[in-house]
This record gives sequence, C-alpha cells and structure tokens, in this order.
Amino acid sequence: MKTNEIMAMLQAKHPGESEYLQAVQEVLESIEEVYNQHPEFEQAKIVERMVEPDRIYTFRVTWVDDKGQVQTNLGYRVQFNSAIGPYKGGLRFHKAVTPSMLKFLGFEQTFKNALTTLPMGGGKGGSDFDPVGKSNDEIMRFCQAFMLELWHCIGPDEDVPAGDVGVGGREIGFLDGMYRKLARQYNTGVLTGKGMTWGGSILRPEATGYGALYFAQLALEKIGKSLKGQRVSLSGFGNVAWGAAKKAKQLGAKVVAISGPDGVCEIPDGITDEMIDYMLEMRASNRNKVEDMAVKYPAATKFTAGKKSWSVPVDIAFPSAFQNELSLADAKELKANGCWAVFEISNMGCQADAIHWMQHEGGMLFAPGKAVNAGGVATSGLEMTQNAEHISWTAAEVDERLHHIMSAIHEQCVKYGTQADGKVDYVKGANIAGFMKVATAMMEEGIV
Ligand code: GLU
Repeated sequence: MKTNEIMAMLQAKHPGESEYLQAVQEVLESIEEVYNQHPEFEQAKIVERMVEPDRIYTFRVTWVDDKGQVQTNLGYRVQFNSAIGPYKGGLRFHKAVTPSMLKFLGFEQTFKNALTTLPMGGGKGGSDFDPVGKSNDEIMRFCQAFMLELWHCIGPDEDVPAGDVGVGGREIGFLDGMYRKLARQYNTGVLTGKGMTWGGSILRPEATGYGALYFAQLALEKIGKSLKGQRVSLSGFGNVAWGAAKKAKQLGAKVVAISGPDGVCEIPDGITDEMIDYMLEMRASNRNKVEDMAVKYPAATKFTAGKKSWSVPVDIAFPSAFQNELSLADAKELKANGCWAVFEISNMGCQADAIHWMQHEGGMLFAPGKAVNAGGVATSGLEMTQNAEHISWTAAEVDERLHHIMSAIHEQCVKYGTQADGKVDYVKGANIAGFMKVATAMMEEGIV
C-alpha cells in the first residue's frame, strides 16, 4: 500500500471532500509501515475497503417553525464499518454538516470505537439543521421529523446513534420519544445518552470530558508530571468542555479559558463550580455566545471578541469544540506562551500541519481525539450493556469502568506508539492499534 496512490484514488472519487480526505490521509500515513508488513492485508484489499463507508442514508427532513413557515433540511446516517460490532456514533446538528464531514467522523469513529475494547463498529449522522436561535418547540419538531426517516435505518443490534455537536440530552429525549412511538420498542438501547429515568447511564453526560482528563493524567504520569496546578484552556462551552472542566478542576488543574464562536472568555483565577453549572444554561439557551459567561461573572472574567482560547497563556490546551479549530499559527502561539502539551478532545480538532509541527519542531506532547475523547462513546457502550441487562450501575461502577477503559486505550497507544527514543507518538499508537483490531476482524470475516 502506498498512501499517495490510495489518496489519489480517493481524491478522484470524492473531489472536494476535504475533511474526509484529511482524516483518511492521517490514518494511512501512520499505518503504512505496519500495513506493508502484512501482505495478507494487501491481498484482501483491506485499506481500499476500510476507507469507504458500508452505506450512507440521505433523507429530506421537513418541519414547521414557530412562525408557521415550512423548513427543509438534509439528514444523513453514515454506516461506516461494522466489522467489530453494530454501527455506533453520534448525530451532529450544525449548519456546516456535509457528507464529507460525516464521513470523516464515521471513519474516525471506527478506529476510536475499536480502541475502547468494546464491540462497536463505527457510524455517524446528523443534519445541516442549525440549532442556534431555535426555540425548544422547534428543536422538538425538528428531532421528531428527523426520526421519522432515521428509525428505518437504526436498531439496538444494528446501529446505535448518540449525541455530538448540537445534540445533547434534550435532543436525544425528543429523538427517543419519537422512536418509541414509531417502533413500539420501549426497552431499547437504540440511542445512547438517554435520560436517567428512561434507560440512560449515570455519568454519560460527563464521560467524554472525564475520560479525556483521565487520559491526560496517564500521559503526564508517564513523563513524571501531573495535572495538579497546571493552567489549562478549553474551547467551546458545550457538553464536552463542561465535563472536561469539572474533572480538570477535581484533579487540581486550573481552567483559565473557555471560548465560543464569538470569542474567548478568560478566567484568570480558574473556573468555579458555579461557572461550570452555568455552562449548561448557556448551551440550553441556544444563543451560542461565550460572552454570556462574562456578562454573568464580570469581576472574575474577561471577554475578548474574535479571539480563540489559544491566545491565552497555559501549560496544557484541550481543543474541545470542532474539527480544525487549532491551526499551525495557533500551535506556535501556544508554544510561545509556554504551552507544552495539547490533548485533542474534539474530533480532528487540530489541523494536520499543526500536529506535525507540535510533534516535531515544537517538541510538544500531542494526543489525538480518537484516543483522548473515546471515553464518551465507551460510556455509551456501557449504557448499551446496562440496557441489555436491564439494570443500572452506580456512578462509582461506571466511573471505575471508564477509568479502566481509558487506561487500556493509553496502554495500546504506548504499545504501538513508543519510538526508538522512548517517547510515545500517540497519533501513531492510536491509529495503528485501532487499525489492527478492525483489520484483523475484517480478515477473519472474509471478503464481504
Ligand atoms: N459523538 C461522540 C463521539 O464523537 C459520542 C458517540 C457515541 O456516544 O456514540 O465519539
């Protein structure tokens, strides 16, 4: 396998699908050497089969807004790879959603889910519906209309969606309510991220952020450091940043910046529990403005319009909002201000040249989203197990399992990513470990 030949073929087949091509290129570059040590992979055309989704559903979603106007959006479900289990992955509602974005996310999800040690394949879905400025009733009507089409494509042993950007507990509630009505299935693990009274797992809302901080702690321990006393920045203020802020604070780090599409909110003395709770209200308001935090806590914060979190001096940065949110210039600015580690919680949060620079010229510690943020989908897997067993575990039980899974992911990165100088290349480690698991399953299942 030659990465450039596969990439040329993909570019010809999928012109302009930049996020998807970027995600594939990153994985192929990491695995090329290992792949070429296995002639049987080449013979079974594993890479050619793995880079294309199994299938993509595209559907029209029509709904009526509060003014009585008819609105039409596009809905999608990308079922990427089912070699190790049912398709699993979130739904993203965002105005910029395209097939390219969902294909990149589904591709990444396949490897991420493989790393969790649980039997879950990879999928992703969503819509170009923009939740910003929408009322609760509009969100409900959109979710119901979306599920009217989606329910044909999913099932507890077939495809299990969850949340992602723009889809949290409220949206999962509306989606699940409609699924129950249509499918007449009431004990379903057909969605994860459910509410506590109807089959959800305790700690699922926090899990992506908690898992990320557990992973960071393990990576720091490996080099004789800890999170205690570190100044950290997050981006966004959604569900992921919220969970990360909570755990960062519990582990003794100081969260000094969060951000939004409107700018950055600096918190020089560190985020407080009250502010962390307020992040939830900010998200539920659908205003999408981080300035609201500065308006609520003017004495403790400073809002700067148009700036990102990466302009604030920190020790460790945690991109936790959107793909490609951290550029090469941002990486250089972080480093110049004293930052020495970046843990990507968002999916593909850093641009490819930024990652390359941080790992080489910048000499920074970098770990990719598919390892760092896997605690979210892993806890979705734990929710599926609880649903299948008709039981609910305690917070302590879920947390212990999450911690155990994050340790297993870290170990796999160390196993496959340790370099000659003893340092761990977490990009390589995560990509090779995830790839080997999926490739082995595909080999054993034959040419299908
Ligand atoms: N959207 C999350 C992710 O990117 C969670 C998916 C899930 O829980 O299925 O992994």
